[in-house]
Amino acid sequence: MKFIGAHVSASGGVESAPVNAHEIGANAFALFTRNQRQWVAKPLSVANIELFKKHCDDYAFDSDYILPHDSYLINLGHPEEEGLTKSRAAFLDEMLRCEQLGLKLLNFHPGSHLNKISIEECLDRVAESVNITLSKTRGVTAVIENTAGQGSNVGNEFWQLKYIIDRVEDKSRVGVCLDTCHTYTAGYDIVNEYDKVFEEFEGTVGFDYLRAIHLNDSKKALGSKVDRHDCIGKGLIGMNFFKRFMRDERFNDIPVILETPDESLWADEIKLLHSFE
Ligand SMILES: [Zn+2]
Ligand SMILES: [Zn+2]
Repeated sequence: MKFIGAHVSASGGVESAPVNAHEIGANAFALFTRNQRQWVAKPLSVANIELFKKHCDDYAFDSDYILPHDSYLINLGHPEEEGLTKSRAAFLDEMLRCEQLGLKLLNFHPGSHLNKISIEECLDRVAESVNITLSKTRGVTAVIENTAGQGSNVGNEFWQLKYIIDRVEDKSRVGVCLDTCHTYTAGYDIVNEYDKVFEEFEGTVGFDYLRAIHLNDSKKALGSKVDRHDCIGKGLIGMNFFKRFMRDERFNDIPVILETPDESLWADEIKLLHSFE
């Protein structure tokens, strides 16, 4: 079975996210548990936490299919001490918030080398950051999202995801989220070489580590390394990919999250996708 939702708004408090997800007919969702563009966040109140859990119960959302996304400011592979320390503190706060909300996954972008260190050195730092955070928390899995490889972002090639996983001590609490737009613009031709790309993913990382999907079409070309999401079936990936994806059982029983640009279409996109199952 497929669990499909969108990255919904949590403005007004985290407790609004499950309500917003319910309204679009989702059985999964993503959210930010704090303002994603600020370093300092107000702690969650007891009321926030209780209401969030109540709304999840009311609308039958299981924490297995809820995928919080961390702040865009965090760079766990930062080449400089100050930026790295700040990022690690913020990431720990993010993971503790997930714990408080009873959530099991935390989706993050691996990081950027900022042209100051090598890709491997950056990935080493990311893995060390994950190890530090996991050692201070319980029950939440760090879910590495593949990137388009824009700018100096690492994580655009499958081997880089595996490189991080190999260096994480607790393998039971690390996983991967594949973003279909990022995968495509990173240079993996999921349109014409669907089988080959996912065989390569299986061989390099392994579906056992796949914890989530971001399901997006792309405005930019294969290999462009530019991250511009499009609505389902309206971009360069196209509807045939999404039909095939929906019938592919390797993507069952994990959160599948739309980050498509027109939120007024989410309910229809979810309905359409389920019709392909
Ligand atoms: Zn992301
Ligand atoms: Zn994404």
